[in-house]
Amino acid sequence: MTGGRPATNKVRLRRFIAATAPGDYIPAEMTNVEHNNNPTAGRGALLGMSRAEIAASIGAALRLDAKRARMRANQLWRWIYHYGVTDFAKMTDIAKEMRADLERLFSVKRPRVVERQVSVDGTRKYLVSLSPGAEVECVFIPDVGRAGALCVSSQVGCTLNCTFCHTGTQKLVRNLTAAEIVGQVMAVKDDLEEWPSGGDDRKLSNIVFMGMGEPLYNLDNVARAIETISDGDGISISRRRITVSTSGVAPDIRRLGEITNSMLAISLHATNDPLRDELVPINKKYPITELLAACKAYPGLGNTRRITFEYVMLKGVNDTDAEARELVRLLKDIPAKINLIPFNPWPGAPYECSAWDRIESFAEIVNRAGYASPIRTPRGRDISAACGQLKSDSVKERASARLKARLEATQG
Ligand code: SAH
Ligand code: SF4
Repeated sequence: MTGGRPATNKVRLRRFIAATAPGDYIPAEMTNVEHNNNPTAGRGALLGMSRAEIAASIGAALRLDAKRARMRANQLWRWIYHYGVTDFAKMTDIAKEMRADLERLFSVKRPRVVERQVSVDGTRKYLVSLSPGAEVECVFIPDVGRAGALCVSSQVGCTLNCTFCHTGTQKLVRNLTAAEIVGQVMAVKDDLEEWPSGGDDRKLSNIVFMGMGEPLYNLDNVARAIETISDGDGISISRRRITVSTSGVAPDIRRLGEITNSMLAISLHATNDPLRDELVPINKKYPITELLAACKAYPGLGNTRRITFEYVMLKGVNDTDAEARELVRLLKDIPAKINLIPFNPWPGAPYECSAWDRIESFAEIVNRAGYASPIRTPRGRDISAACGQLKSDSVKERASARLKARLEATQG
C-alpha cells in the first residue's frame, strides 16, 4: 500500500515523464511518486539512497514500523549492492507479497548505457544517458590499482573552463545526483558481470573521479556516492582506493577529506600563478600558495596516504627543466606523487603535447627528486577513450592509452 504522497511530486514527475523516453533513467529526486504512465519510470528509485533513507521510504510506503523497516532496508541493501539484483522477485528472503509491493512502488534501475566500446586490451568506455540531453562518459581500465579502475563523472560538463580541457567547452552543465554517480558504477559492474560484489578475483578495485566535472562543486552528492560505493556490505571498494581529483577548490579540500576519507588528486599543471591563472582559471580565486596550504591540511595525509599532483605536459608552455625543478621545490613539504600527463589534443585545442624527449627530461628531474615513475609508457594501442572527452576515434585511442598510463601512476 502507498502512503499519502504530496501532489507537488506528482506534478513534477508528470512533467518529467512528458520529456522522457521509455527506459530513460529517472534521477532519485524525481521519484517517490505513486503513479505515472510509464511502467517503470515513476517508481521510487532506491539507488543513491542511504540505508536510513531506504528504511524511511519503504517504511512509509509499506506501513512498516521502524525496526522492520530497518531490517528490510538491510536486506534490500545487500541484494542491491552485494548481489546486484535488479528485480525484486529475486530477493528470496523477502515475503512474496512484499516483493510484489516493492516491485510496484520502487525501482533499482541503473542509468542507461547508450554506447559501449571495448578495446582489445580490455579498456571499456561507456556513454551513459542520465536524463534527456544529459550524458556522461565513464571508462573502465583493467590492470590499474589492485585489479582495475573506473573513471566516473560527477557533473554533466564543467563550469571551470580550463583552457586545455575539452569538457570545459561543453554547454550543458548540471550536477549528478548520488544515484547517477553510483549508477555508473552499477552499470559497469553489470557489464563486467561482477556480481556478487567483492572477493579476491574482483575486476573493479579502484574508483577515480576524473571524468567530467569538478567533484568539489558537487561534494555532497560525491560524498553520498562514496558512502555507498565503500560500504562493506555492498560494492565494498575501500576509501583508500577511491581518488577524487580537483582543479583546486581550496576551501572545500579539507571537508572532502573529513566527510569522505578518500584519496586526493590535484590538477596543478603550472608552478607559478600567472600561468596557472591562464590554464586553470579557478587559480585566480584560489592561488597556488592557498591551494598547497589546503593540501598540507588534508586529513590523514602521510607517507602511505599521498596526494597525487597532476601535471599536463603542454609544449612550450609549462614543460621546461626549470619548471620541473620548481615543481619539486613547491611540493617538498607535502607527501606527494607526481603524475605527468601527456596533453591529449582535441579539435581546435590551443595547445600541443610536449615532445617525448622533453617529457622524459622533465620526468628525469622529478624522478631524481624521489618521485617514482612520474610517467608510464602506455601498454595498449587499441584503446578507446579518455574520461570526459568525446572525440574522434584516432584521438580517442591515444587519449585512452594516456589515461591508462595516468591512472596506473595515480593508483600504483
Ligand atoms: N575537474 C577535475 C576532475 C576531472 S579532469 C579536475 O580538473 O581535476 C581529470 C584530469 O584530466 C585533470 O587533471 C585534468 O586537468 C586533466 N585533463 C583535462 N583535459 C586534458 C587534456 N586535454 N589532456 C590531458 N589531461 C587533461
Ligand atoms: Fe573542469 Fe577539470 Fe576540465 Fe578544468 S580540467 S574544465 S575543472 S573537468
